[in-house]
Amino acid sequence: MHEGKVGMYVCGPTVYGDAHLGHARPAITFDLLYRYLQHLGYKVRYVRNITDVGHLEHDADEGEDKIAKKARLEQLEPMEVVQYYLNRYHHDMELLNVLPPSIEPHASGHIIEQIEFIKKIEEAGFAYESNGSVYFDVEKYNKKHNYGVLSGRSVEDMLSTTRELDGQEEKRHTYDFALWKKAQKGHIMRWPSPWSDGFPGWHLECSTMGTKYLGEEFDIHGGGMDLLFPHHECEIAQSVAALGHSTVHYWMHNNMITINGQKMGKSLGNFITLEQLFSGDHALLERAYAPMTIRFFILQAHYRSTVDFSNEALDAAEKGLKRMAETYERLLKIEAKNESTVEVSGLRERCDAAMADDLNSPMVIAELFDASRAINVVYEGKGSLSAKDLDELKDVFKTYLVDILGLRFGDADSGNNGQMAAFKGAVELLLRYRQKAKQNKDWATSDEIRNELQSLGFTLKDGKDHTDWSL
Ligand code: ZN
Repeated sequence: MHEGKVGMYVCGPTVYGDAHLGHARPAITFDLLYRYLQHLGYKVRYVRNITDVGHLEHDADEGEDKIAKKARLEQLEPMEVVQYYLNRYHHDMELLNVLPPSIEPHASGHIIEQIEFIKKIEEAGFAYESNGSVYFDVEKYNKKHNYGVLSGRSVEDMLSTTRELDGQEEKRHTYDFALWKKAQKGHIMRWPSPWSDGFPGWHLECSTMGTKYLGEEFDIHGGGMDLLFPHHECEIAQSVAALGHSTVHYWMHNNMITINGQKMGKSLGNFITLEQLFSGDHALLERAYAPMTIRFFILQAHYRSTVDFSNEALDAAEKGLKRMAETYERLLKIEAKNESTVEVSGLRERCDAAMADDLNSPMVIAELFDASRAINVVYEGKGSLSAKDLDELKDVFKTYLVDILGLRFGDADSGNNGQMAAFKGAVELLLRYRQKAKQNKDWATSDEIRNELQSLGFTLKDGKDHTDWSL
């Protein structure tokens, strides 16, 4: 795209079940990148697709379509399944404060474009038809281009590690993959094509929709590391075959999440949905965790490192986030003095450098914790900040905590940011009036406000210039 603009494509969910931890990590990682690029002043077109067709049971070219299967079991239209889980996904993302992408294209809404894309691959000679299905010819492609550029795998290695075809299948080699599959009798999700009534292969939608919305070349393509092979490798091959050149400038992959050191999987009983995390309703969870705790926990690790979920780790993240929220609240209450007696310079530059260093969010968090020591010293009356330093600190905290890390404060339990902010503002207002009354030696008013608040259940702690409160 043009100067000042960034095109970014991220593989989104296959919507046939509730979102789980494995969905939260890429969503938050690329939300961080999206926010950061916007902070740098780029106009970002962020495309995150919705897979609603063609993702088969074993992530291979065989098996029932995941959405069609769910529809069959629940006696629903496939698009009812898609809408139901997509609404829930959006709700979870909102709770995690993940910004919606610029475009959220559905695979099923781009069948015509996918058919055209297959035709281009066919015309270039890298596809073959077999029994109404169309497959990508990896061997032929590999002779001219390089299959395996992203994953570092070679076709020779793949031959030695995969089983040989028994001659009964439509494919010439095990590593060939479907571009179009002929629908079997009873398969509901099907569309007409030059080859058969059928449906597109899973990898094809990302080549098609990425280039449709971001152009033949775009800046960033992201997704979870589990998608690197075969999904992204196949995507590269399809795009190079159809267009004659690669389309993506930078590939970014977030690492995976383990649970108590184990890979997450339905058969292992450690499959935790986001809703279960937010409600605590799962055998492995000791209690519920707020969405912001999950977000903070994920951001405390670099996106290329693995993250291990456990109750202890989540407890620690919750404590850390609480401390950070307290510091930020205190910072907003500090009054400027003539001069600074604590050292706060260079914080913005260090945070900038950390983010510029491959999105080092844990480093940014460490820097902010570091600065919180000075803030607490000043808050407790043992130091002071000049107006200039105070404004700078407030701006750095707002920029990094709120805008870039995307943390939302004050609504951890209510889930409603606006109401909570209004509520807090009203309490603060009352306390300011009480402070004024005290200064005017109007003890009757001051005591009345204190007693009324206490009878409503507030705990007040008087400090030198301000009163801390909790409910
Ligand atoms: Zn994809």
